[in-house]
Formats: sequence, C-alpha cells, structure tokens
Amino acid sequence: KQKLLEVKNLKKYFNVGKKQLKAVDNVSFEIYEGETLGLVGESGCGKSTIGRTILNLYQATSGEVNYKGKNLQEKLSKKEKKFYQEEIQMIFQDPYSSLDPRMTVLEIIAEGIKIHQSNMIGKERLERVYELLELVGLDRKHAKRYPHEFSGGQRQRIGIARSLAVNPNLIIADEPIAALDVSIQAQIVNLLKELQKERGLTYLFIAHDLSMVKYISDRVGVMYLGSMVELASSEELYNNPLHPYTKALMSAVPIPDPDIEEKREQIILQGDMPSPLNPPSGCRFITRCPAAMDMCAKLSPEWTEVEKDHFVACHLF
Ligand code: SF4
Ligand code: MG
Repeated sequence: KQKLLEVKNLKKYFNVGKKQLKAVDNVSFEIYEGETLGLVGESGCGKSTIGRTILNLYQATSGEVNYKGKNLQEKLSKKEKKFYQEEIQMIFQDPYSSLDPRMTVLEIIAEGIKIHQSNMIGKERLERVYELLELVGLDRKHAKRYPHEFSGGQRQRIGIARSLAVNPNLIIADEPIAALDVSIQAQIVNLLKELQKERGLTYLFIAHDLSMVKYISDRVGVMYLGSMVELASSEELYNNPLHPYTKALMSAVPIPDPDIEEKREQIILQGDMPSPLNPPSGCRFITRCPAAMDMCAKLSPEWTEVEKDHFVACHLF
C-alpha cells in the first residue's frame, strides 16, 4: 500500500481572548492510496479542523501535512497551490449553504472545470458537466436549475459532482451525510463507494456517528478533545475496541440481530466533553472515563502500537 497523505504531529491552536484553544493537539496518521480513513468523534473534537488544515484553509500551529511526500504547510508557489487544490477536494456537510443559490447547477459545476481545465470550452465543457451529473445519478435536464429546486440528497450529489470536476485524488468528506434523512444517507454513502471503485479515489471521511463510518471505512481513527485516542482497521476496531471512549461509542452502534442487541451492555458516558479551552490535565478523557486510575490525572498517555496497525493512547495498554 502506497502512502498518499501523512499528517505528522499536527497542532492547530486558536487564540480565544487570553486563552488558547487547542483544537488539534499533536495528531499523527497516514492515509493510503485508494482507502477510506474514517475520522470520528463528538463535535468539537477537532476532526473538521484537521480536514481544513489538510486543505490549507488553516495554517497549522506546528506539524506537517505531507501529500505525496510534499509538506503542504510550507510556502507553496501559486502553481503548486493550484495543483494541490486539484488533487485534494472537499465535500461539505451542508450541501445547501455550500452551493451558491444564484448559480445554476451548470454554472456551479462548470466553475471548477473553467479554473482547472481552462482549455476545455463550449460544447466540450457542457458535455463534461452532463457527464459529471450523470456520474452522480442526476439527469442532464437538471443542469439549468438552481440549488433550491433540489432535495437535500440531490444537492449533496451536486456537491460531489462539483468536487469531481477537477479530477481530484483525495476527497475530504466532512460529515457529508449528517444533514440528510436517514433513508438518503445510505444512497450517498453507496454513491461515494461506487465512485471510489471506478476512479480510485481516496477518502478522509469525517463523521460523529460510528455506524456509517464503520461501513464505509477501511480504517477508523477516533478523536477526543483534540487528540486521537485510537486507530485501527474497521474490523479490528469493531471486534476489539480498546480505548474506553471507543468502547462507549461502539456500544451505541445498533446491532441488527435482536438477540445480541438484547444481551449487549450499553456504556453510557457521564457528562459532556469538557471545553477545549479548559481541558483536564493528564488524560483528556479522565472526567468521563469509567476505568480512570490515579496516574491518569498526572500523565497523558502515549500513542502506542499495541498490536500490528492498532494504535491506542490509554494507560491501560
Ligand atoms: Fe481512562 Fe486512564 Fe485510559 Fe484515560 S488513560 S482512557 S482516564 S484509563
Ligand atoms: Mg465539524
């Protein structure tokens, strides 16, 4: 497997008044060519900030974002910036607010083609827009319509078509189904899976809900309060979750078999995630951890590979 992206000791701090908000605090992971890496955690855990830093929408406080061996956090030339913007695209949570309401679908999708394939004009460009619409399951007849004329699921399809217009390699999908009806969510996830197979795309799939992530991802990283607490293959994480937080998240994922579902113990976490402006010292999960020990308040646990390709940050391991 070929490494496509490497996030290394990434920190992103924001100044809030006199305080520092450590949105992402020393996170490292890799994404391999053609895989889907899921990133899960409650809102405010830093997962979107990671996505935005990879896209260069944020300058990291420190650390590296290496794409095909090039650190995108270094100063890039205009030409390089344009190149990486084509390589890495984003799909947003709210397909409505991310689509300009005054533009037709045709204009929205053609915009990307204009910027990145300026030699493609006239009829050729129009054909390309039609092709992209059909690729995401929309009719070419829809091209002259405006975003408000579409349902939520259709708008997300338009968002996906727009991101594909520049032929990206890596797609960062930031909660792409969270705003959709449950019945539509599976359709969009299946579309993303098909597109991945056809085009060899790589995904960073960000979500707060583990059930869909488990289904779409090859590997999953679990975030809590700015840190990654566990990372493993989907299967391994599902069968053998180690971190107390992952265990709690897993216990909330419904199991289709009612016999197993009935016997299963659900772990309910006490309280909320503390504010990232006031994180506890030691392990950040300590205020809610059912397994906390004395040392957890003093020492923050190190990121450890406990089994091959299974990483966890917890003093129990
Ligand atoms: Fe719980 Fe301690 Fe592990 Fe943190 S280090 S998750 S507080 S047992
Ligand atoms: Mg978010």
